[in-house]
Amino acid sequence: MEEMTDVPNTDDAYCISCGHIIKKEAEICPHCGVRQKENVPDNSKSRTGEMILGIIGGLIGIIAGIFAISVGGIAGAFGMQDASLVVGGGFGAILLGIIGIVGGAIANKNNKYAGYLMLISGIFGFIAVSAFWIISGLILIIGGALALREK
Ligand SMILES: [Zn+2]
Repeated sequence: MEEMTDVPNTDDAYCISCGHIIKKEAEICPHCGVRQKENVPDNSKSRTGEMILGIIGGLIGIIAGIFAISVGGIAGAFGMQDASLVVGGGFGAILLGIIGIVGGAIANKNNKYAGYLMLISGIFGFIAVSAFWIISGLILIIGGALALREK
């Protein structure tokens, strides 16, 4: 009745073959020698780097969009031409920043969609707010290219 008296701790798991309580980190059960496939995390296809790039690039893009709206608003207050274009581009940049963040957020679920979203965000941001987009655009394009790369 060994199994009944052994209380599993939070770092314990049951062997997928014999049911013995074993360490969650154990790759091979010490009782029956069966490899614990479920317990081996597949980090080889992890897209955490792309996720971080998409979220940071998108956040900087949103800040750039807010900045462009502010600049456009000030320019408009001084009666400068094209000020409304800058404001409109700023709103576009905020939208594209959100798209970049969404792309980063799904990088681990679907790297292809994530890559396309980040690339779309990274490239079209330059059209929206040109120079304001340089930092986030570079981050998003690098993140998108990495996400599309097969592992
Ligand atoms: Zn076992």
